[in-house]
Amino acid sequence: MITAYHHAGFAAPLGDHVMPMRKFQLVADALAGRAGVAVVAPPPIAPADLLRVHTAAYVEAVRSGEPRALAESQKFPWSPALWPSVLLTNGGALAAATRALDDGIAAALASGFHHSHSDHGEGFCTFNGLVVAAEALRAAGRVARVAVLDLDLHYGNGTASLCATRPWLTNCSIYGNDYCENKTYRDVETLRHTDAANHLSFALPNGSGAAVLLDALERGTAALLAAGRPDLVLYQAGADPYREDPYSPLDLDHDDLRERDRFVFAWARKQGLPIAWVLAGGYTPDVSKVVAVHVGTFDAAQSVYG
Ligand SMILES: [Zn+2]
Repeated sequence: MITAYHHAGFAAPLGDHVMPMRKFQLVADALAGRAGVAVVAPPPIAPADLLRVHTAAYVEAVRSGEPRALAESQKFPWSPALWPSVLLTNGGALAAATRALDDGIAAALASGFHHSHSDHGEGFCTFNGLVVAAEALRAAGRVARVAVLDLDLHYGNGTASLCATRPWLTNCSIYGNDYCENKTYRDVETLRHTDAANHLSFALPNGSGAAVLLDALERGTAALLAAGRPDLVLYQAGADPYREDPYSPLDLDHDDLRERDRFVFAWARKQGLPIAWVLAGGYTPDVSKVVAVHVGTFDAAQSVYG
């Protein structure tokens, strides 16, 4: 049984926005009644858990809306509904990470984490739920080392910045769009960031298909293990590498992305690494295609974990 954490409150009512918040509910609806998957509501995260990763000034800005520029640094219009929704999505990430330690695998039907920095948000990511969950589990004595495997289309610049002060955390971002100072770049030939021993990146050239992606995955997963065997893997299973996504210069269809997911889960299972995944980005205007990528991740997980 795979537990998938979802809460109707994940989607802040932000009106029309490029980030299709309703996809969380649509994925939950698509999973309803599916054999082998239990959709469960997580509790909200405690603000104290956020403060292990984020500055008090930034957390307070998101809660209160002031100063407004900081409260909206992730590029969402601030409203009082933002705070409870981000407590729930980060709670979902922590619940899935915790469950994965017991069951080997779990998911949170939430996204919006990997561009978030200590003192501000970027790219629809308010708080970095990946690192928040990792820190909470470290504080509870459940894990010592954590690895993030980031297969969102975009480079995970926020997680990389948080690795700088956390030698126990390793991030591997395999990306087709760079991300820097709250802007996205299709050109991945120009390097806009610096890698380090515990934050690595692999650029996928424009037009890359499954073979290039799987080759990068071979190298990326090997590098994650070489950095020190993690007690937990957090997986950003983005839907935005999909070929019809407006941000994507890659040539990856639904089968290719299912193959990607199967690779990741087969690797984690073979290595005996607990893994929790989150949905990450996805902007294809026909939202049913975004949902299909995310449901494909469940197909892949169930094909590996039975
Ligand atoms: Zn993305």
